[in-house]
Amino acid sequence: MLKGKNAIVTGSTSGIGMAIATMLAENGCNVMINGFGDKDQIEKERKELADKYKVKVAYSAADVTKSDEIEAMVKEAHKTFGSLEILVNNAGIQFTATVDKFPDDKWKAVLETNLFASFYAIKHAVPIMKAQKYGRIINTISVHGLVGSIEKSAYVAAKHGLSGLTKVVALETAEDGITCNGICPGWVLTPLVQKQIDDRAQKEGKDKDAVKKELLEKHAIKEFVKPEEIAGMVVYLCGPYSNPITGSTITVDCGWTAE
Ligand code: NAD
Repeated sequence: MLKGKNAIVTGSTSGIGMAIATMLAENGCNVMINGFGDKDQIEKERKELADKYKVKVAYSAADVTKSDEIEAMVKEAHKTFGSLEILVNNAGIQFTATVDKFPDDKWKAVLETNLFASFYAIKHAVPIMKAQKYGRIINTISVHGLVGSIEKSAYVAAKHGLSGLTKVVALETAEDGITCNGICPGWVLTPLVQKQIDDRAQKEGKDKDAVKKELLEKHAIKEFVKPEEIAGMVVYLCGPYSNPITGSTITVDCGWTAE
């Protein structure tokens, strides 16, 4: 379905991003993956993806908190693939503390990774997409781009900011064949959430399964969202029926925000 298209997926060495990069490749799209991790393991995954789906897969080690590294990543993808149709801003981190105890450096890191990085990547990708008269920008937001939760002031502020950025970019690029949307997942069992489960279990002296059950109280459907279910939405937003969908914040949240 996406044969001949070229994508960047930030934060795709783990969790949701890895599922997105994999499903884009499965659909024939060339992909630049990005993120932290063991060099050899990343190279193994890059090669496996390229061999299995017969697409080009490149890797950028850009730290998305650095604007110059993001600019270089976008330029490198454009040069390597010859065009750039899809940008998925997915890299993200979490830190939890009440607002009065929130360390300044952690606040900065959460904002830079979850919000500023998307701005920089979009800023450098939009001119390329405008020249092509085609582009699909997808931001992995969160239900926390729509509602709040205690101890997540930096994350909720960043994700609400990303919801706003999504809408403005959609409006500014509407006449250029570009769409910009955000996906708002509920709980997805990835390393980012596993750390929250482990920390909470330790802090509150609880069993990890009991903490998982508590997390799922937010979901009407008492299950975790699967990374593939987010990836499927990304593929849909890059597919043939996506033209009128722009500026949207699409929930994939087991009914969390319906209440
Ligand atoms: P994860 O920890 O499994 O993956 C995060 C990815 O981001 C990794 O590849 C990591 O290397 C990369 N990354 C982090 N900082 C980076 C940096 N400075 N530069 C480059 N790469 C960096 O987490 P995940 O759960 O897959 O989260 C992916 C996205 O989904 C995040 O934006 C997160 O906020 C969002 N999200 C997650 C959930 C959830 O329940 N897991 C729910 C809603 C939204």
